[in-house]
Amino acid sequence: MLVVPVDDEATLVVPRLEAPRVRADDRLFELRPWEETEDPVALLAGLVGARRRLAISDRAWAALLLSLQRALPSASWRPASSVLGRLREVKDSEEIAALAAASSAADRVAAALHAGEIPLIGRSEAEVSAEIGRRLLAEGHHRVNFAIVASGPNAASPHHEPGSRVIRERETVVCDFGGSLRLEGDDGPGYCSDITRTVLTGPPDQEVAEAYGALQRAQAAAVAGVAPGVACEEIDHLARRAIDAAGWGECFVHRTGHGIGIEEHEAPWIVAGNEELIREGNAFSVEPGIYVPERFGMRIEDIVVATADGVRPLNLADHDLVVLEA
Ligand code: ZN
Ligand code: ZN
Repeated sequence: MLVVPVDDEATLVVPRLEAPRVRADDRLFELRPWEETEDPVALLAGLVGARRRLAISDRAWAALLLSLQRALPSASWRPASSVLGRLREVKDSEEIAALAAASSAADRVAAALHAGEIPLIGRSEAEVSAEIGRRLLAEGHHRVNFAIVASGPNAASPHHEPGSRVIRERETVVCDFGGSLRLEGDDGPGYCSDITRTVLTGPPDQEVAEAYGALQRAQAAAVAGVAPGVACEEIDHLARRAIDAAGWGECFVHRTGHGIGIEEHEAPWIVAGNEELIREGNAFSVEPGIYVPERFGMRIEDIVVATADGVRPLNLADHDLVVLEA
């Protein structure tokens, strides 16, 4: 656990056996390994001292937080994202360059999908997912974060786990994938990509074609609406309005987007009720979808950055409906 007081130096508290993995840097933090016979919670409480306003990582183990709360009964707690989220959500030019490189790498995988270089029909979702993952790495990511492949009725589940289902002809196939990529000289976690393209394994019926048209208009309208000073909920509204107008409103079951950076999901949240204004340097996804239970689903997702005068989409892969024949 990294303990960062506002008024003192930071300390990284780690078990002795993990200490060799730490790249020590005294300019950033003091390293304090603890022995198997020591009580790390008491050690942490000692570092906190008399301070009572504490924030803890959103992803800390509940067991650790409960122990800390017992050791520091008068402290008040809040999630670290309430402090760090506002800092992280505005990206500087280096961060935008890293996000752009990750998005371009993901675009190249999407282009291969569109070109038919990744066979779909007759293969399982899991096989296609594994190939997309390999291609993300080959295009420069150092880690695959996810590769959703959802075919036919499975595509109606936005976060479907790719499985043994074999992809057939004349189905929608939602492919939503991303990884982390480091620019040269960056030895941190890197920056994330996240793109969705939906392809068809044969000519669409009229209903699917119409739904896709509405989806494409919704996604384009939401992207076009991005600019500093626009409320996050307004971007969500733009996407939803276009899908509502085409009669598919009930089938758009999630928020329009999420911020992205060193984490694949972070602030700002592009969702109804979020009145936060978009700021220059915000990077987030615009990803409306239409999901018809037990039948089909579709989503188009790009990462965009709010610029001084509007928007810069980082994903440029084709948005048109691509039909892949066997
Ligand atoms: Zn995605
Ligand atoms: Zn996303």
